[in-house]
Amino acid sequence: MAVFSQTSYADHESVTFVRDPAAGLRAIVAIHSTALGPAMGGCRMYAYPSDDAALADALRLSRGMSYKNAMAGLPIGGGKAVILGDPRSDKSEALLAAFGRAVDRLGGRYVTAEDVGITVADMSAVARHTRYVTGLPGAHAAGGDPSPKTARGVLHGIRAAARCALGRGDLAGLTVAVQGLGAVGYKLCRELHEQGARLVVADVNPLQVQRARDEFGATAVAADEILFQEVDVLAPCALGGGLSEHSIPRLRARVVAGGANNQLLTEADGPRLARRGILYAPDYVINAGGIIAVCAEYLGDLNEAQVWAKVTAIEDRLTEIFRRAAASGEATSRIADAEAETIIRNARARDAAPPLARTA
Ligand code: NAD
Repeated sequence: MAVFSQTSYADHESVTFVRDPAAGLRAIVAIHSTALGPAMGGCRMYAYPSDDAALADALRLSRGMSYKNAMAGLPIGGGKAVILGDPRSDKSEALLAAFGRAVDRLGGRYVTAEDVGITVADMSAVARHTRYVTGLPGAHAAGGDPSPKTARGVLHGIRAAARCALGRGDLAGLTVAVQGLGAVGYKLCRELHEQGARLVVADVNPLQVQRARDEFGATAVAADEILFQEVDVLAPCALGGGLSEHSIPRLRARVVAGGANNQLLTEADGPRLARRGILYAPDYVINAGGIIAVCAEYLGDLNEAQVWAKVTAIEDRLTEIFRRAAASGEATSRIADAEAETIIRNARARDAAPPLARTA
C-alpha cells in the first residue's frame, strides 16, 4: 500500500495503529504536528463503515486540530484518536484502559480528550492509565467538559458573521438552523435562545428535538432537511462533511457558522460557498473554545476568567478573517488555512534550525 504518497497523509508526523484483542480495542492515533507543542486533540468513538473511513477521519481530524490550535494561539500541536466501534455497545472499562495504555506509550507526544462518542466520565477511566489526558471533571476550574466553551465560542462567531454578512449588531430576531442537538448544539441553542434568536432544529435523536421544542420553542424539521432551511445562519453541530458540491447549491442561509469539525467535505467547498455569497466561519476557528479550555486545564497556565477571555477573542479573530476575505476576494477557508500553515511552518523551521554554535 502506497502509504506515504497518499495526499491525506502528506504532512502528518506519525500514525499509530493500536490493537488489543482482549480488550476489544482497535484504534488509530494520528499525530499531525508537534511543531508547536504536544499534539492535543480528542478521541472519537464511532462505528466506522470501514478501516479506511476511520483512517481518513483520523488524518483529517488531526490536521484540523493542528490548524485549530495554531489559529487559537495555543502552545500545542495537533493530533486525534479514533476508536473503531459503537460507543453504545462496544465501550467497556477494559477498552478505555487499553486505550489509556496506548496513549501512555506515546510518551506525551499525544494528549487525548473527549470527542463524539466519548464522555468526560470515559476520560476519567482513561486517566487511570495515562497522565496524557485532559478534559477531566473537577481537575481544574478552567477545564472539564469542553462543550460549554465550544458553544460560547460558536455564539461569538455567529455574532461576528451576522455583523459582517447581515449588518446585524445583535442576535435578537435572527433565525438560526442548528443541525445536531448534542453537547455543543444544545448548549448553543440555549445561548441563542437567551439572545432572542429564533431556532430551527434537527437531530436524529427525537428526544433531543422534543427537548429543544419544549425548552426553546424551536421549530423542528427532518434531519435531511435542516441544511436547506431559509434562515439567516446555518450552524452545523453534528458530524462533519455535510457541506459538499451536492448540498451547497441547495443552501438558503446567508451564513454558515457552527461547531462541527470538518464541515467542508473537500477543500473546494470553501470557495464554493464563497461563490454563492455565503459567509463561512472556518470550523476550526469558530469551534476552538473547547480546546482553549482543555489546553488550559492540561498546562495549568490560565484561570477561568482568562479562558473565557480567550474564547471571546474568537469573535475578533473571525472578524479579521472576514475582513481579509472581503478585501482579497478569497474564500474564508483559504485565508484561515494559509495563516495556520504559516504558523506551523514557521514553528517547524525553528525546530529544524541547527543548534547554535559554541562560542567558547
Ligand atoms: P455529540 O455526540 O454530543 O452531539 C452530536 C449530535 O448530533 C447528537 O445529538 C446526534 O444525535 C446528532 N446527529 C448525528 N447525526 C446527525 C444528523 N445527520 N442530523 C442531525 N443530527 C445528527 O457531539 P458534540 O460534542 O456536540 O460535537 C458535535 C460536533 O462538534 C462534532 O463534529 C465535534 O467534533 C465538534 N466539536 C465538539 C467540541 C466539544 O467541545 N464537544 C469541540 C469542538 C468541536
